[in-house]
Amino acid sequence: MRTALLSLAVTAALGLPGCSPAPLAAPIDQTLAAPAPQSPAGMRLYALQTGRMYSRAAFAFKGGRFGDRRVFVAGGILVQHPRGTLLFDAGFGPGVEAHRKTSPWLLRVTTKYDRQTSVADQLTAAGIAPSALTAVVLTHAHWDHVSGLETLPGTPVWVTRDELAFVRGPDASTALARRLGTASYVAYDFPDGPYLGFARSRDVFGDGSVVLVPSPGHTPGSIVAFVATPDGKRYALIGDTAWQREGVDLPAEKPWVARGVDDDRAATRAMLIRLHQIKAAMPDLIIVPAHDSRVWATLPKLSSTPAAG
Ligand SMILES: [Zn+2]
Repeated sequence: MRTALLSLAVTAALGLPGCSPAPLAAPIDQTLAAPAPQSPAGMRLYALQTGRMYSRAAFAFKGGRFGDRRVFVAGGILVQHPRGTLLFDAGFGPGVEAHRKTSPWLLRVTTKYDRQTSVADQLTAAGIAPSALTAVVLTHAHWDHVSGLETLPGTPVWVTRDELAFVRGPDASTALARRLGTASYVAYDFPDGPYLGFARSRDVFGDGSVVLVPSPGHTPGSIVAFVATPDGKRYALIGDTAWQREGVDLPAEKPWVARGVDDDRAATRAMLIRLHQIKAAMPDLIIVPAHDSRVWATLPKLSSTPAAG
């Protein structure tokens, strides 16, 4: 009863539309081609969870219920390829308590968190030297994606030119990325052709197994990374374009309470519709929001026991 009253009070206070989902109009685009990747044997993808934040669906997407508790994960996605090892985002590092103070106060006071093992310690435990990483590839430069960078000194950090300009600018949401320093940041472009309806792309290894595309909205230089593993699975690492999978499934944008976290709400909305269309054309595509614990629970885990030999 108390929870129901609290829910009503918060719903009223936030001006949320109640419990009914508020999907965006999204016509299905059947013309999207799905290029066939040539993923090499031995390529792997692993989820490295570094922490959890405890929130509610009402704070994650429009139409989400206050009583629907959600665990937001923070971490990195490791992609091992014979030609390089990439870590998508760095998750929480040991300094997360101080780092978190750079996040918007409203999200801070509505969210509890805990810290788990850093990406660097997880790599070491699995017999992978953190220094062996080819690069950390940021989906974007918000605090909960860069906090773990302090455990990876010297590792190149790949960001789009637009994201690097965003970090170097005055925006409060990139204060931590600025403070940690941008000496390791390497800006890249999208020299390759159209991909799944995106005008430009970057095929990292030249075999279609890891393709980056620009997805401005949540931040000006956000990306989506399409990853295809040799077992036939295909993933879209969408960063924070949606925090939970309903953002793409419905699709639904973030709620009013989170209105400040998307740099460009209209562009974010357009990207959600595009991802929704891609998912409709490729039903087996695994959409991986950076913070959806239900999706992360299905991803392969990096063993802490190094493989023999
Ligand atoms: Zn973000």
